[in-house]
Amino acid sequence: MSIVASPTLPDAHGRFGQFGGRYVPETLMHPLQELEAEYFRAQHDPEFQRELSYYLREFCGRPTPLYFAERLTRELGGAKIYLKREDLLHTGAHKINNAIGQILLAKRMGKTRIIAETGAGQHGVATATVSAMFGMKCVIYMGAVDCERQMLNVYRMKMLGAEVVPVHAGQKTLKEAVNEAMRDWVTNIRGTHYILGTAYGAHPYPVMVRNFQRVIGDEARRQILEKEERLPDLLIACVGGGSNAIGLFYPFLNDASVKMTGVEAGGLGIRPEQHAARFQGGSLGVLQGTRSYILQDEFGQIQSTHSVSAGLDYAAVGPEHAWLRDAGRVGYTYATDDQALEAFMKLAQLEGIIPALESAHAVAECIVCAPTMSKDALIIVNLSGRGDKDVAQVAAKVKLQMPE
Ligand SMILES: *Cc1c(COP(=O)(O)O)cnc(C)c1O
Repeated sequence: MSIVASPTLPDAHGRFGQFGGRYVPETLMHPLQELEAEYFRAQHDPEFQRELSYYLREFCGRPTPLYFAERLTRELGGAKIYLKREDLLHTGAHKINNAIGQILLAKRMGKTRIIAETGAGQHGVATATVSAMFGMKCVIYMGAVDCERQMLNVYRMKMLGAEVVPVHAGQKTLKEAVNEAMRDWVTNIRGTHYILGTAYGAHPYPVMVRNFQRVIGDEARRQILEKEERLPDLLIACVGGGSNAIGLFYPFLNDASVKMTGVEAGGLGIRPEQHAARFQGGSLGVLQGTRSYILQDEFGQIQSTHSVSAGLDYAAVGPEHAWLRDAGRVGYTYATDDQALEAFMKLAQLEGIIPALESAHAVAECIVCAPTMSKDALIIVNLSGRGDKDVAQVAAKVKLQMPE
């Protein structure tokens, strides 16, 4: 384990500076307090930690490799590029790190029913998987549009014994799925735990999810020190709600020499309703339990968003990212749909790795900045998931006759 003198945030109210907090209906205050108390007890319980690391290793497949992308490095002609291979985890993305942690917590709290929201379906699959493993009833809320574009994951969840509820309200994507999951939780609070899938929502979710995901950065730190005997110069990760990014970044936050870039979904370009880049057109607001940067109109109505990747297609960003951005510690940029598709194909053909479209946004940023860096600089790109789920969608968009 690396030693991290971490920033002391969030505070006791779950605030990261002016961001975060707990903005929920009265009926959810008590359950959230209960969850917070139980989580912090579990966090300091060696037996809980032992059980968690057992399942991360034996069931999920940790540690994941930190892989030197030799051909991509040569092609780009600049910094040396390493890929943190979260795509190799069981169920194909980093989401399982958090799902396994939260279901162990639910078990500890005597809950027997699990609910979750899902966008791309990866969090739904991870949740359905751990629910099957622990014999818990599982209900997944998913926007009807996402159900359609991620049909493979809908089948996977059903095969795992979960009930999938398509949500037809509003834009029929992730935001509406979260609303439905919160409605369910208020109604069935006693025996139900809500496994939120990203570093978002009311306290304690952002800090809890971050802590379950920091295993990515803890491993990467140890691995790069073993391989290169020094820290990396740059970390790159895509940012939906922000869990894979904060998981990688967090253990490096106090290392001033390590730069970090979060990559949001630039969609069709930075015009209203054409993207999901909250730090480019977003403003301060409250959505689904927390205070952060949000894509909203002048009346505070949540704007529609667009991204080729369902997992990045959300109008708000995790509060810790908002804080890190305002503090100037992490830089945030975006990649467009086209850049992500190009990066997707490039990684497949140069490295034999088909990335998730979400992760392809991080690869796209790497393609932009690696050539501008010196050959002895080190970059770690978080490959948050694999692209099997995206194959049909990409095939419909990309002509499959690529040179070389
Ligand atoms: C869900 C998902 C994301 C986006 O969520 P974060 O919480 O921002 O990490 C990114 N990559 C993959 C593969 C995902 O499934």
